[in-house]
Amino acid sequence: MPRDKSPIGKTLRRPAELAAAGLVPPTALPDLERVAASFAVAVTPAMAELIDPTDPADPIARQFVPDARELEVRDGELADPIGDGPHSPVKGIVHRYRDRVLLKLVAACPVYCRFCFRREMVGPGADGLSPAELDAAIAYIAGNPDIWEVILTGGDPLVASPRRLAEVVARLDVIPHVEVVRIHTRVPVVDPDRVTPDLVAALKAPRVATWVMLHSNHWREITDEARAAIGRIVDAGMPMLAQTVLLRGVNDDAGTLARTFRALVAARVKPHYLHHGDLAKGTAHFRTTIAEGQALMRELRGDVSGLCQPTYMLDIPGGHGKVPLTPGYVEPGPDGSLTVTDPHGRRHAYPV
Ligand SMILES: *Cc1c(COP(=O)(O)O)cnc(C)c1O
Ligand code: SF4
Repeated sequence: MPRDKSPIGKTLRRPAELAAAGLVPPTALPDLERVAASFAVAVTPAMAELIDPTDPADPIARQFVPDARELEVRDGELADPIGDGPHSPVKGIVHRYRDRVLLKLVAACPVYCRFCFRREMVGPGADGLSPAELDAAIAYIAGNPDIWEVILTGGDPLVASPRRLAEVVARLDVIPHVEVVRIHTRVPVVDPDRVTPDLVAALKAPRVATWVMLHSNHWREITDEARAAIGRIVDAGMPMLAQTVLLRGVNDDAGTLARTFRALVAARVKPHYLHHGDLAKGTAHFRTTIAEGQALMRELRGDVSGLCQPTYMLDIPGGHGKVPLTPGYVEPGPDGSLTVTDPHGRRHAYPV
């Protein structure tokens, strides 16, 4: 199945378009139409061009190209795996932790990740906030002095226009108790040309600090174009962090994780969280066990720079919050002392 070598000019949204681009075999179309009826599909030109269609295990394809296994829903998988619903006081706000809220401005993303934890809430059919709903969400934030940080998420907030983003950031900037605006996005990787000087300028305001959290899962995503887009944000004075999802068949080996975290740090992005896969419907083929994730974190510790070590995290199903899954290095030893395990697995007594 030769792939059309002409550049891919637009986001691919239908299984037939993926087949025409050589990214799925035409025989898979009936199943993939069923997947697409439940979960949105979008592959940006930047990501479609990164895929090697001759590699059946391509880690970029696996993240974005739909798969018939998404039709298999396992016991325990949930429509709202991290429990946004029970903590939403007004539309668009999730207030689960006292000092910070999520503000879900838009429900669309430039790509639809096949393992998305909000896959039942995002997509072209889901609507973002109307002007009146945004007013109500901002009034909620303004009325709660405990809220120190507002996390713009969605969807991907960077699909909103620079004008709309600038308006939202400016309205948050005048709420005195809000000191930090955090933007969760995949755009610098999946659609780097969208990170224009206008977009970058829209994220900054005179008073609040803006932090940008990039979602990136594989070193191959950190292309020259992505590095340039990241550079435009960091050079404008906004620090960047990354969140990565541990995904079977994409990054579930120590070599790939190390190379991914190094690529991020070299692009001036600090790996912050490595998320254990959420119990989203039809995503069992992506999930590792927690024991596997902990073993990978142990392998990274020691030989890989501390800058490249995120915290391995679990979002407890049902909305009970995020907790670290850090492998244990300290255990009780004899006579009230402690036993500490070093990065090579050797054990040492530590007096107390
Ligand atoms: C993940 C999440 C946050 C952010 O948590 P951090 O540990 O600060 O990254 C805030 N609110 C909700 C509802 C979340 O799910
Ligand atoms: S970018 Fe985030 S919200 Fe959008 S599909 Fe991917 S994981 Fe889901």
